[in-house]
Amino acid sequence: MQRIYLDHAATTPLDPRVRAAMDPHLTSVFGNASSAHWHGRQAKAALEQARASVASSIGAHPSEIFFTSGGTEGDNLAILGTVQARGPQGVITAAGEHHAVLDTCHHLQALGVPVTVVPVDASGTVDLAAVEQALAGGASLISVMHANNEVGTIQPVRAIADLAVRAGAVMHTDAVQSAGKIPVHVDELGVHMLSLSAHKFYGPKGIGVLFIRRGTQVAPLAHGGGQERGQRPGTENVALAVGCAEALRLAIDEQGAMMQRLGGLRDRLEAEILRMFPGVLVNGDRGNRLPQLLSVSFDAGVYPMEGEMLVTNLDLEGISVSSGSACTSGSIQPSHVLAAMGRDEATAKATLRFSFGAANTDADVDTVVGAVQKVMERMVRPR
Ligand code: PLP
Repeated sequence: MQRIYLDHAATTPLDPRVRAAMDPHLTSVFGNASSAHWHGRQAKAALEQARASVASSIGAHPSEIFFTSGGTEGDNLAILGTVQARGPQGVITAAGEHHAVLDTCHHLQALGVPVTVVPVDASGTVDLAAVEQALAGGASLISVMHANNEVGTIQPVRAIADLAVRAGAVMHTDAVQSAGKIPVHVDELGVHMLSLSAHKFYGPKGIGVLFIRRGTQVAPLAHGGGQERGQRPGTENVALAVGCAEALRLAIDEQGAMMQRLGGLRDRLEAEILRMFPGVLVNGDRGNRLPQLLSVSFDAGVYPMEGEMLVTNLDLEGISVSSGSACTSGSIQPSHVLAAMGRDEATAKATLRFSFGAANTDADVDTVVGAVQKVMERMVRPR
């Protein structure tokens, strides 16, 4: 069976060019970047080149780039490290954040740190008035993502960062989904911290970046050999850092043409689904969302079915997509993002997220349209 992968927001395949850049660092250039000898210096040079490349990709200074194990660690380091360094005055986040941010904030809350979760509107956009009100209560940190992983909505990060600065708080943004899709520049966004994850832009898994603006105090979460200027100790994985840097450079280099093409595929799929299923709900801010992502919900009142089985049924047709629910403690729970946007439980469960990537073609859209139609004919119960 021909399989079609439309789940690039979950992860992407490794770009062969990235693999080629990593290859020497997995074999011949094996030194420990902390060693003073020639082998160590070779590794160190490659690591620092990767750091400089990441910095230039997002408008930062190399000393502001810290390699992490990925988006989850970057988010944890930003949030926990800030609270540890600046004191537990309070943390603000938003209802549609990724679990890497939300669960970290809930962990702090359980430890007694005041946490405010500001709402999002029906399009998934953070309410600026609620942010301003929460900041007035006193907080050391606000963390709001750049673009949402489930519905693609792009947040007003710059406006939130400006409010944060005025209130004396620092601003972190999770840019895991936006990097390589829309411009990510730390000064234009006005943020103090920003997390990235390489496997979302055709880099390797297990590596990411936390940008920490000079002068921003963030305590390390681990202690040891002092690598990454003590911010993230442990022997550096040079091959992964090189892969991360090259993947980001390529993704940003090719972003314009790639997103124009994938946006075209996304728009055609959206139009076909809207045509086939009157009343289908498009999730996210249609005027301000990631170009390669489409999230649709089948209103339970119009299309009664076991919505949580949609993804499994599409999988049987050879299509890999994501759903609007997650298996938590053995039961299927609707996505917290869709719930925060006001979708009822049954409709949230009947959600499909299609996220396009480099290998997708026009023919894929036709195949997916046929598969969705077939699956819906099978699944929707007569009313
Ligand atoms: N933040 C967002 C918005 C994500 O989409 C993801 C991945 O799904 C993460 C964080 C976690 O990143 P990683 O898988 O690198 O830990």
